[in-house]
Amino acid sequence: MATYIVLLGPPGSGKGTQAKLIAERFGLPQVSTGDLFRAMKSSDTPLARKVQEIMAQGHLVSDDVTIEVVKERLSRDDCKQGATLDGFPRTRVQADALEHLLESTFQSHVAIAPLFEVEREETIRRIMGRAVQQGRQDDSLQVAEKRYEVYIADTAPLIDYYSNKGVLVRIDGNQPVEKVASDLMAAIEKKVNLNQAAQ
Ligand code: AMP
Repeated sequence: MATYIVLLGPPGSGKGTQAKLIAERFGLPQVSTGDLFRAMKSSDTPLARKVQEIMAQGHLVSDDVTIEVVKERLSRDDCKQGATLDGFPRTRVQADALEHLLESTFQSHVAIAPLFEVEREETIRRIMGRAVQQGRQDDSLQVAEKRYEVYIADTAPLIDYYSNKGVLVRIDGNQPVEKVASDLMAAIEKKVNLNQAAQ
């Protein structure tokens, strides 16, 4: 059975960094919807333009479009053993769609949902810092605040959702990257059957 990890936490909480470390350690590819949407920038279609506009405002891309993008990505060969989902699901509708997809297509389920806990001010500071470093235009102060607001309204309810399923693990995201990583890897090793994840 393939292994699926869902990384939760506000934008800037370290999901992308930790997803890359999980990929190195366990060979589970990082599937980042933010990266997939940013990659659309190069194609000049009405959908791609619409997605860029939504991202620039800090809003969420529609559930339908997002779910389609994830379905397509998870069906590729490199995800045969599973994946680490970074930035997806972000709404209840997406979480239900993921559960359905994993059950019906991959006969699997979410094995663990680590939550990186970081306070609002620190989150916004990190989003802004990253915007400067990476030239990400979707991250001005106003947009960073909007992104946090959207996280609280639409995505934070998933904390209870995964907690009720018994897969949520809270990680202190304020610690240095290496400490976050060691807490995370220990939590994964405890909860996930690694022989399968490493295959
Ligand atoms: P991220 O890099 O994960 O912070 O995502 C950047 C932007 O892409 C978000 O602010 C949204 O506009 C869009 N996005 C990424 N993932 C999702 C998702 N699961 N649902 C809707 N929109 C998303």
